[in-house]
Amino acid sequence: MPSPAITFDREDLPFPGSLPEFQRLFPNDAACAAYLEAIRWRHGFACMWCGERGEPFRFANRPHVLRCRKCRKDNALTAGTVMERTHTPLSVWFWGAYLASSLTPGLSAIQFQRQLGIGRYETAFQILHKLRAGMMRPDRDQIGGWPGEHVEVDETWIGGATRGGGKGVHDQTLVIGAVEVKDRKPKKGAKPRRGGRYAGRVRLDVVPDRTALSLTSFVQNAVQPGTMVITDAAPSYARLREIGYEHLPVVEAGNPDIAEQYLPIVHLVFSNLKSWLQGCHHGVSPQHLQAYLNEFTFRFNRRFYPFNAFRSLLGIGSNAPAPTYEGLYTGSWHHANCSSHG
Ligand SMILES: [Zn+2]
Repeated sequence: MPSPAITFDREDLPFPGSLPEFQRLFPNDAACAAYLEAIRWRHGFACMWCGERGEPFRFANRPHVLRCRKCRKDNALTAGTVMERTHTPLSVWFWGAYLASSLTPGLSAIQFQRQLGIGRYETAFQILHKLRAGMMRPDRDQIGGWPGEHVEVDETWIGGATRGGGKGVHDQTLVIGAVEVKDRKPKKGAKPRRGGRYAGRVRLDVVPDRTALSLTSFVQNAVQPGTMVITDAAPSYARLREIGYEHLPVVEAGNPDIAEQYLPIVHLVFSNLKSWLQGCHHGVSPQHLQAYLNEFTFRFNRRFYPFNAFRSLLGIGSNAPAPTYEGLYTGSWHHANCSSHG
């Protein structure tokens, strides 16, 4: 049996930083299989059925299967991943996950189909949705908690401009966001943008209203107690100190100059979110908005760690829980989005 032509260093897996590099690393299904093998068995193959170690049988036409020499059972490299039982080549999945994990907004199923030479539009559509299922799992880690750093919290309206537009129709949805604010180390001679601050992780939720219950519950879910939280001076945030946060309520946060000084990062995130929603999704219905917020959050929080995003989407790697079949088929993965209208 031939060994795969491409092998990866199990201790130091590379991750492509560009499309050409991607094509060099993953030129074919055998390369993708070798990569999956290296992730799965960091210390060399061990049969999942009998524990036998040592070189398994390999098949040139079925690179995703390793057959144990002792018990002769097949070990599927795609078990527990979104690629399990797929008929689509591994290289197509890898390519899709790479594109979907990059910040490139609005990859449509049509573009995806063309770039990969996928025969049927429906196949491209399904692949994208299965990959997106890996983003639908909301990040439930609390953000903040870093000494000396703070979190900005604010709300914004998302959606059409018809709110209060005469017929009592309002299709705008209230969204609340929390953003970690980090300090960039100043470069010599450079004038820092936004006071040298930039965004860490975000959390975004649809909320029904601006009551103290809605806003305070969000902060409690999203932000670690003890964190310094900056908000506007709305009475709904008044209890934050009482429930364990450092709190700086900013009076007159509606004034753009004041807002720019105290809540610049969360407003920047809202602005990015809105351009993404507008550029890619024309008219997001309120009941699906949370799914888009989750997708935005997924990419945003991993934008410095594309390898983690890539692995999460494929459902591989020890630190990334794989979406289950049940989750895929009963969950929110079928939400209409960019790819549904080409
Ligand atoms: Zn075995």
